[in-house]
Amino acid sequence: MDKYKERKWSGEKGKKFGKVGRVDDPYLPSEGQEASVCTSCQAIYQNKRWFFDEKLYRKLAGTNRVREVLCPACRKIRDRYCEGVLTLSGEFFEQHRDEILTLIKNEAARVAGRNVGDRIISMTPEGEDKLVVETTTEKLAQHLGRAVYRAYKGDLDFRWSEVNKFVRVYWTR
Ligand SMILES: [Zn+2]
Repeated sequence: MDKYKERKWSGEKGKKFGKVGRVDDPYLPSEGQEASVCTSCQAIYQNKRWFFDEKLYRKLAGTNRVREVLCPACRKIRDRYCEGVLTLSGEFFEQHRDEILTLIKNEAARVAGRNVGDRIISMTPEGEDKLVVETTTEKLAQHLGRAVYRAYKGDLDFRWSEVNKFVRVYWTR
């Protein structure tokens, strides 16, 4: 756990509401612009909400109608600020690795489509029979663990941190 005590990230969490009337929003498009777009994942920020819209992105990207930014989720990914870790392991996992990875990627894409903030930060193999998936939110790590469990049964275990907003999810089969 010590590893995570020192984590820092450059997002503006907690600074959202200033004392001055105007909200300190680092993602707000400039005066006269329609939206902000994330140059990394192409998420769009409009009316204080992040979402994906490929068509709108293609229409706006590269024009002066948008402000180019890095969205909060991509900042977390860049800073490796994770709130969830899913560890997959076991002999069954080793044998079905590719299909389980596909399931995880598809699920993660589906979830991110609904909520831009839920994202996989990294997927790191530890030997042949183990994989560690770091996520930007607790929710996504839990969701992915449950999705694997629903599809393949096995053992699923959640361990929440008492101090930080952080969860470790273990799936093994
Ligand atoms: Zn982004």
